[in-house]
Amino acid sequence: MRNDTAATLRRLQTLLSGQHTLAFLPAVCLGAFWLGGETALITTALGLPALLALSNTIFLQTPHETGIDGVTGLPLRPVVIDMIDQTLDAQHTTGRTTACMTVAIDDFRGLETSFGTDTAQDILKTSARRLTDTLRDHDIVARLDGPRFAIALAPVRRADLETLIQLSSRIQAVLSEPLSVDATKIYITASIGFCLPARAPGQSGAAFLDAAEAALVEAKSNGAGSIRAFTPGAIQTTLDRSTVLTDVGDALENGEILPWFQPQISTNTGEISGMEALARWTHPEKGVVPPAEFLPAIEESGLIERLGEIMLYHSFSALQTWDKAGFNVPTISVNFSATELSNPKLVDKIRWELDRFEFDPSRLTVEILETVIASSDNDIITRNIAALGQLGCGIDLDDFGTGHASIANIRRFAIKRIKIDKSYVSRCDVDRNQQDMLAAILTMAERINLQTLTEGVETVGEHAMLAQLGCDHVQGFSISRPLSFDKTLDWMDAHRQKLAQTPQIGRKAS
Ligand code: C2E
Ligand code: CA
Ligand code: CA
Repeated sequence: MRNDTAATLRRLQTLLSGQHTLAFLPAVCLGAFWLGGETALITTALGLPALLALSNTIFLQTPHETGIDGVTGLPLRPVVIDMIDQTLDAQHTTGRTTACMTVAIDDFRGLETSFGTDTAQDILKTSARRLTDTLRDHDIVARLDGPRFAIALAPVRRADLETLIQLSSRIQAVLSEPLSVDATKIYITASIGFCLPARAPGQSGAAFLDAAEAALVEAKSNGAGSIRAFTPGAIQTTLDRSTVLTDVGDALENGEILPWFQPQISTNTGEISGMEALARWTHPEKGVVPPAEFLPAIEESGLIERLGEIMLYHSFSALQTWDKAGFNVPTISVNFSATELSNPKLVDKIRWELDRFEFDPSRLTVEILETVIASSDNDIITRNIAALGQLGCGIDLDDFGTGHASIANIRRFAIKRIKIDKSYVSRCDVDRNQQDMLAAILTMAERINLQTLTEGVETVGEHAMLAQLGCDHVQGFSISRPLSFDKTLDWMDAHRQKLAQTPQIGRKAS
């Protein structure tokens, strides 16, 4: 199989190009002199370095030149395209067809932030090996850019929707088996897009792969661990980077980018304790686009402050409507970037907006990434956070556990609540290590008088475990996905009824 050839080439490369080979040069020359006299000495002394230099030019080419990915040892995109082209060319005589799949590890950037680059590369290597082991010998697995892989199925009699969904589920299951790094278990999920021969936009390897990639974008926008088949039309609706950059300014001003809201729940009472505002772009063709696809363009175009103003204004409008409708939402959490926090006018802007809506400052919670606080020696950021705290706004330390904020910094910035990152939550109801980590964080928080909120709570089991461990608030898909403003009133109504009817799961034992 081509993947084996790639691995052998890499081993040979390591053997010939390592420092140790040069270290042996004097010994080899001496041996040559003993055995073959002066001629052998000269040949070896001149020939061996030349051979090493030659091996480096052969092997130390960029992955694209060798067609092999340097991290995983997998072949690259052209191999998948070739394989599909060959199968399609021979289809009349063999009666066999193929399909193309693309697989992406979810939230890879988050994994890199939490566990470091080396571990992230180990995750890629292990995933590559698991993919190769799971598929049949003649299927091709290739590395695409980032944490993405492509698969070309070796010629098969049938490649229909059911077969591909089953295969996708099998791939997700092997990739989600825990990875052990040091004493920690890491859980990953993967999203999958595929293109079936019957739905392919063209009869070529390139068309199959493009379609599978478009389906993957679709899957990812639907949340982690999704599977999507390509449907004609999806390719045109995929956002490309340059379009995002030109369109994002208009989208902000046209009201296409607005906050959606995700509820936060008190584990003690089951009542809503807050809502987090998360930016969503409702694109006229593409539908709902998550922030990962447009925030970088907003930053690049210098529009992050404008986004902040829009998020704050619409969050306060929503809060006002909920108040009028008789729903109790104590506070709304808004994410502030380092750029916004560096604006000396930020506190005035927030105070002005609070006054306009006649809200007490406690109705706003400012979410600040742990990384911003950990790395900040920016006086304006420090002053702004202190002033917002004094004003009476809530200050949440977002993604806690990923950014090395010290307890001294937590004190310096008058943080009131930590928002424990979702990486600590997954499977905490069944995994002892996760429980121990959470218990340690929660105990620390209690000792220094910090409130706790955990995000990324995806199952009822995780919710119950967090309540049992004493976490004050929870947020995540198990309670609700982020909702457009229109859907919030119905959700709150249903939640109120549920609370009235049923005893709450996971209420803290007292
Ligand atoms: P974040 O602040 O950490 O927000 C939490 C993210 O986790 C959200 O992703 C949310 O949809 C997702 N999430 C919620 N519950 C679950 C769950 O149970 N499981 C999983 N796997 N995920 C869950 P989203 O909305 O895609 O936002 C991504 C990031 O974009 C946010 O991460 C935040 O850093 C940034 N962001 C969003 N809106 C804004 C904004 O208005 N301003 C700024 N500066 N950043 C924003
Ligand atoms: Ca947040
Ligand atoms: Ca977060």
